[in-house]
Amino acid sequence: MNTPSSHIYLDSQATTSVDPQVLETMLPWFHEKFGNAASRSHSFGWEADKAVESARATLAAGIGAKSREILFTSGATESDNLAILGVAKMYASKGKHLITCVTEHKAVLDPMQALENDGWKITCLEVDENGCLSLDDLKNAIQENTVLVSIMHGNNEVGTVHPIAEIGAICREAGVLFHCDATQTFGKMPLDVEAMNIDLLSASAHKIYGPKGVGLLYVRRRNPRVRLTPIMHGGGHERGFRSGTLNVPGIVGLAKAFEVSQEGGAAEQSRIQELRNLLETKLFDALESVYLNGHPENRLDCCLNISFGFVEGESLIMGMPDIAVSSGSACTSASLEPSYVLRAMGVGDDLAHSSLRFGIGRWTTKEEIETVAETVIHAVNRLRDMSPLWEMDQEGIDLSTVQWAGH
Ligand SMILES: *Cc1c(COP(=O)(O)O)cnc(C)c1O
Repeated sequence: MNTPSSHIYLDSQATTSVDPQVLETMLPWFHEKFGNAASRSHSFGWEADKAVESARATLAAGIGAKSREILFTSGATESDNLAILGVAKMYASKGKHLITCVTEHKAVLDPMQALENDGWKITCLEVDENGCLSLDDLKNAIQENTVLVSIMHGNNEVGTVHPIAEIGAICREAGVLFHCDATQTFGKMPLDVEAMNIDLLSASAHKIYGPKGVGLLYVRRRNPRVRLTPIMHGGGHERGFRSGTLNVPGIVGLAKAFEVSQEGGAAEQSRIQELRNLLETKLFDALESVYLNGHPENRLDCCLNISFGFVEGESLIMGMPDIAVSSGSACTSASLEPSYVLRAMGVGDDLAHSSLRFGIGRWTTKEEIETVAETVIHAVNRLRDMSPLWEMDQEGIDLSTVQWAGH
């Protein structure tokens, strides 16, 4: 068995390891400073509360918000659920129509589905072959009774980045609330809730080298003031929007992870983009019948999603046991359904099944990228050598015209 350390991790859209600086900042909050931030009667509580409020201020400032507009949650799944269910229930008397997009994360699509089952009307916008939605479709979808538009910033499977400022402007003009799942871009791309007219924003610590199980929801308090019906009831923490004892070490870690990401800044993003481009170039130069999934330019720096024709993604992954990548989304890769995101982009089932997602991260080195490129090229060639379909294709037979026996 290989130890995990001999593995090359290229799955940073699924999760990231906790940065040592983040871990160090969190440690005292587990044992020495273990107070409950809601305890008002002693210094244990006060010091925990102070740390939470300092984290809140850092995170708020980072997205152009006010401290009181940041709610701490257990992660982006909870933030998405609270934003969507909370707004839908609060504004049900204004209207029961919501708009989202087919390529959203399940943490957005599933609460939407739950609302649809309860009588809300959901419009799910389509995307083009690059994973981009049409702003005209969005404008046309907004109706009198629309209360919320939920569109993600960067897509977790193919990396396509939506024009959030333009979407925000359309929603603001129409008087409809705008929620953005920014989990893949928070800390990596500039986010400004004022300039972008974002009313609610979800983010998570573990996608930016922070701990798992903590995230935030930004909720606008002025122009307009967004109200939410809580989904978690109890002690009235987080101004009643989200009851439950605060995860003080996690919150401290989230803020530190955000700060460390900001310090890396544009230089770190361009280092990651160069590695991504290097991998892309190497694979495209060495292999035929490979296809880029996602927008060629408007895409996350860290994300490379490629379909390898005539190869099965799962077999490819099994042929590269030392490389950690995903086929499709990590959330759905337990099933053998082709990715719904690729399908929505018009990628056929064969090419959807042959896709791999490479997620470049903070610890990825050039040597690792070179090893990965060689390994992938070797594995693809080996699988194709065994594929009768590949052989026919190489002989110039158009497979779409072949009459298969038994059909
Ligand atoms: C990872 C992810 C989520 C879920 O976040 P958790 O903190 O793991 O619940 C939601 N949306 C997007 C876009 C993601 O990438």
